[in-house]
Amino acid sequence: MATLSTTLPITGGTAIIIPNKPNPLTISYEQLNSHVSAFQRKLAQLGIAPQNAVSIALPNSYEFIVAFLAASWQRAIAAPLNPAYRQDEFEFYIDDLSSALALVPRDSFRNDGPAVRAARNHKAAIAECYWNGHEVALDIKDQGKLSGKGDQAVQKAQQDDIALVLHTSGTTGRPKAVPLTHRNLTRTMKNIQLTYKLASEDRTLLVMPLFHVHGLLAGFLAPLFSKGSVIVPMRFSASEFWDNFITYKANWYTAVPTIHQILLRNPPPSKVPKIRFIRSCSSPLSPRTFHQLEKAFNAPVLEAYAMTEGAHQMTSNPLPPAKRFPGSVGLGQGVEVKILDQKGVEVSQGSEAEICVRGENVTKGYLNNPEANKTSFTKEGFFRTGDQGKQDEDGYVIITGRIKELINKGGEKISPVEIDNVIAQNPSVREAVSFAIDDEMYGQDIGLAVILKDGEKTTPDDLRKWITTKVAKFKVPKQIFLTENMPKTATGKVQRRMVAEAMLKQQK
Ligand code: ATP
Ligand code: MG
Repeated sequence: MATLSTTLPITGGTAIIIPNKPNPLTISYEQLNSHVSAFQRKLAQLGIAPQNAVSIALPNSYEFIVAFLAASWQRAIAAPLNPAYRQDEFEFYIDDLSSALALVPRDSFRNDGPAVRAARNHKAAIAECYWNGHEVALDIKDQGKLSGKGDQAVQKAQQDDIALVLHTSGTTGRPKAVPLTHRNLTRTMKNIQLTYKLASEDRTLLVMPLFHVHGLLAGFLAPLFSKGSVIVPMRFSASEFWDNFITYKANWYTAVPTIHQILLRNPPPSKVPKIRFIRSCSSPLSPRTFHQLEKAFNAPVLEAYAMTEGAHQMTSNPLPPAKRFPGSVGLGQGVEVKILDQKGVEVSQGSEAEICVRGENVTKGYLNNPEANKTSFTKEGFFRTGDQGKQDEDGYVIITGRIKELINKGGEKISPVEIDNVIAQNPSVREAVSFAIDDEMYGQDIGLAVILKDGEKTTPDDLRKWITTKVAKFKVPKQIFLTENMPKTATGKVQRRMVAEAMLKQQK
């Protein structure tokens, strides 16, 4: 039976490095196991019962790691929350899951921080977590609705227990709560391990937040359960990335395209270290960035496709010498992929329709959302991703856009991803995001927001002329906005509807 407690290696070399300056914290697999067991006992003593929710409002840190693993071992539901939330956001999530306990950083109580105020309002217990030099301390500040009397036994997790609830990124609407079981998580960990042949020699630098599946599964759990080492800085920092990467001898990393682009502008100070592969996931990687990355860092770039509902990874390009190509997210690994039409019928090879997936990694359904659950699965149990795509003759998946974000210009469906990739080839353009704007004649037309490279003087008219030579006339954006900021989600994803709102406001 695979659960997070039965699959964590109990021996091995270094599991985790926290690159604190000047004294980094290095944790072996033996130490990690003993710290997690100790924390689990404290949760039991506090009264955490099976399937109670534990909200974890901690930044990327050793405290987060121990709290997350201990909660899942205790059969509780770990619910990581972005520590940068405001009080009303904390309230929404703590209330949504009726959390029994909120874990917060040291001094949050004294400072009466937003997570503390939110937890108090919903009668969740509140405890501060911090490294005290030999273990992760759990300092209970408020017992909330828990007994605090040590009335729970230490539990053994079951495969179909919910281990984790995370919310989708909220790119296309309100974030949805996705429960993921031990079975879902361990399946993804295995799939990622097999895709990239992760082993004990591998060392990864975590740059994504642990409160979303990308960082948690691909950046942390999969390498950890492959007996590798994970370097965990508190957050991504362009100026510290290469220092950490080189000092701690990392050999791969996974990130969203935005981070790859930032790294291309901040290359390593000395020789590029040997990188086994670079993984890109969560947003479309433009072919231009793909080629620049491969050239600058002399490593294969493997683009993957993932979503919260699939416990992260669904497809990925494979390691060389197998084929990989820009614009493709590769093949299902331990996940069945089919391109289905609206009736659930598979389309012919090469045709575009909805990407659907089935596998042990996929959630059974959203929390408190029967409506979405009804429409999200086919009769055969395939999950409808909401993404449009096609497969090449070898089964490689090519995502052509999100169904909700397609621009419907008088019945003609235009993929904003395609427009973005074309504009990205213009030498003056740093970043381009297209979106739907209301149009009297066509219902919708194309809007385009552009960030120019430093010092560029190109005008919207010049850009429009250039685009006209690259795409059919109906795909030329009607309105082009120059801007300095592109609104993004916490994980660095472009929110087209937010970009649209910001540009229209800027215009007024
Ligand atoms: P919401 O569902 O709340 O609108 P979201 O879909 O962005 O937000 P996530 O679960 O974090 O929330 O992201 C999954 C989505 O990210 C996928 O459905 C897909 O649209 C997009 N995505 C993931 N990987 C890629 C990729 N390599 N290329 C293009 N899009 C990707
Ligand atoms: Mg989604």
